Amino acid sequence: MGQAEFLREKALELGFADMGIVRLEALRGLSERLAERSRKVPFRDDAYGNFGHFVAPRERRPWAQALIVVAIYLGRYRIPPRADGYIGKLYLTDFYGYPPSPDYQRIAAYGEFLAKEGIRAESDPFRGLTALRYAAQAAGLGLIRQNNFFYGAKGSFYRLEAWAIDRELELRGSGGATARPCPANCLKCVQNCPSRSLSEPFTMNMGTCVSYLSSVGPILALSSRLLKDMGGWLYGCDACQDRCPFNKGQWEGVEEFPLLEEVAAKALPGSLLEMSYAEIQKTLSPKFSYIVPELIFRWKLNALNVIDNLALTQYLPQTRMARADSHPLVREKAAAVARRLAK
Ligand code: SF4
Ligand code: SF4
Repeated sequence: MGQAEFLREKALELGFADMGIVRLEALRGLSERLAERSRKVPFRDDAYGNFGHFVAPRERRPWAQALIVVAIYLGRYRIPPRADGYIGKLYLTDFYGYPPSPDYQRIAAYGEFLAKEGIRAESDPFRGLTALRYAAQAAGLGLIRQNNFFYGAKGSFYRLEAWAIDRELELRGSGGATARPCPANCLKCVQNCPSRSLSEPFTMNMGTCVSYLSSVGPILALSSRLLKDMGGWLYGCDACQDRCPFNKGQWEGVEEFPLLEEVAAKALPGSLLEMSYAEIQKTLSPKFSYIVPELIFRWKLNALNVIDNLALTQYLPQTRMARADSHPLVREKAAAVARRLAK
């Protein structure tokens, strides 16, 4: 068994769904993909600028020769029914910065294993080493579909992780070999996008994507139309993935994700409005880190938006209570929503 195969065997033994190794030279096409996307959907320069380092992974790591890419199948976790369609499933089962997750531990264990093997290896979960979906496709783990998501053997609900390594290795993953492209006439993901952010295949406007708007996007830039488009989504959005035929029947939901039931219950609109910001910080922030502490009031704004969009009159008492919130934007929104609910 060669070294690449040995590294793959260890990855599968740890529970990763797939693993491949791609030489950095094989990622050259990414630059053109990013430029094309920027041409099609001009967005704030700084947003695309944030991804500038993706096309030159050697700039920060001149010693790097290849990337090990692993796919983690999140569809094995059970999703609390009240959270489905309310919080994005990838966010519910996410492991970034969340040590209780078995996937967090898996990644740490694999990093330690690489170090023990004497391989110089670095991951960069927060900035990203490169565009991981593109790297996973190049490494033969699966393919990027028209909704821009990476698909492995069991649909799109995977998280990807990568390590830059100092070895000139190469190995194809197993997910790409049998992957069929999107059917020629399918546009279900585009048609199901609530904000028309996914305006055509392989083109998505980050500035109007509900996932972005509900987590890291600028709050004050939200127009009333965008707030409506967010519908019943509190944090994240699965609409373009849920509608895809390649995801049909794929979510297994057989394993408990640590503390997910309790955390999801705290994120329901009524609980969110009742909790203090300190409690939100303690219970939700460790799991859902895209809402940063300085913008913690965003949780209440998002909850009020869901209540408003779905006319959830059962939350009128909590909405009225939020009119006395410590944050002016929450007070203002709560007053407007309470008036509409009371009509
Ligand atoms: S995540 Fe939601 S808003 Fe964003 S592109 Fe997909 S369907 Fe549209
Ligand atoms: S919904 Fe259709 S077009 Fe969109 S990703 Fe799935 S198969 Fe492809």
